[in-house]
Amino acid sequence: MEQKTITQKIFLDDVYKKEHSSVIKDVFFEDGYPVLILGSTIFFPGGGGQSCDLGEIENVPLRDVFEKDNEIFHVLEKTETPFSRGQSILCRLDWARRFDNMQRHCGEHILSGVFSREYGGVNRGFHMGSDYMTIDISLEEKDNGKESDDEIKDPNSSMKTDGINWEIAMRAQDLANEIIWQNKDISIHLFADPENANSLPLRKPADFDEDVSVVLIGEKDDPSDCVACCGTHPHSSSEVGLIKIYKVEKYKGMFRIYFDAGARAMADYNKKHNIVNDLCIRHSAGTEDLMEKISASDTRVRLIRDELNTLRHSVITSRIEETGNILDRLAKGEDPLCKGPFSLKGDILVCRWNDMKTDDLLNIGRPLSEKIKKLLIIVSKKDNTLLFFSDGNVDCSKLVRENAGIYNGKGGGNATSSRAIFPKEDDIDLFIDLAEKHLR
Ligand SMILES: [Zn+2]
Repeated sequence: MEQKTITQKIFLDDVYKKEHSSVIKDVFFEDGYPVLILGSTIFFPGGGGQSCDLGEIENVPLRDVFEKDNEIFHVLEKTETPFSRGQSILCRLDWARRFDNMQRHCGEHILSGVFSREYGGVNRGFHMGSDYMTIDISLEEKDNGKESDDEIKDPNSSMKTDGINWEIAMRAQDLANEIIWQNKDISIHLFADPENANSLPLRKPADFDEDVSVVLIGEKDDPSDCVACCGTHPHSSSEVGLIKIYKVEKYKGMFRIYFDAGARAMADYNKKHNIVNDLCIRHSAGTEDLMEKISASDTRVRLIRDELNTLRHSVITSRIEETGNILDRLAKGEDPLCKGPFSLKGDILVCRWNDMKTDDLLNIGRPLSEKIKKLLIIVSKKDNTLLFFSDGNVDCSKLVRENAGIYNGKGGGNATSSRAIFPKEDDIDLFIDLAEKHLR
């Protein structure tokens, strides 16, 4: 930079100006991108929790606008610059982005003002995210000693024990929306001396050593909010449109309020409305009886689950009995009469049930260990898993540990029961062949 230039901030005088002609005072590169310093600008450089404006300069998009050492840097979304010092240029503001920022930022002022005025809550943190905004409200005694939480005006006595609960948040939301719908004037007051700023009914005392900009919502003698702020604000509270609180949670001794304002709150309403509509169709319900129908459906699901559990236990019991009978015949040297899910591989009994999960199959095999002469293998085709059971004479764990890896299987267990999982279905039968040969 050749010389210091102080850019005139057009957005302070006219927050609605969307196009503006200016002159380039300086052009240089920073981090590989061209930066322009202008004589005057409509681009707010960000601050006070509000992100910067974007837009175009002579149809070249901006990637960032920020303030450093009292100078506003306009960073171009380009690696070369078509611009030179002294050139006249036309700036075009991304108004949709600016208005979104103004609605949300001003919504935060209004809601913080309500928490301060009605509950003595101090806003200790503000975050503007893409899905929602948050404010962290502290109910400690206010710095100016005007109010403490013993003197809360809220009619709900629960405030003293619970702090900001959902009911109180909803009341704050109603009051904030009333301020919006009352179409209150929003004015900006600039003070060269911060002492003078304290003549306004500030929510927090100004402690700046330079120029102070104070935003006042409503009248000086009955302000909806009044606080030092360098952001961009609409001229009327009605432009905020809507404030919706989404959630309240305790956070580091404070209360974190999740909310949004303006078009974003409306978009959230649309999204949730569509979800409720879909649920109504799915449950053949209206919004009035939707919860009732969902509860009835939950009850039905619970009953079906209980019935299914009873049936499953009954099937497991009968499969234990059926398998036990075959194992008994094998032990006596009789024809085991294998059919259906049962087959013999040498003198190993193999069972295949494709309708059960591995855990249930384990519950069939485990109680049978004493009856097993050599080895019982249960195949869980669903999970490409083999379950091995024995009376301990064949070490099931060792069988898996020493051989499963040959077919890329993994597993483990103990002497009387183990399992092995294989990557491919074909490996299951190959491993049964191998186990039979190995134990012959
Ligand atoms: Zn502000």
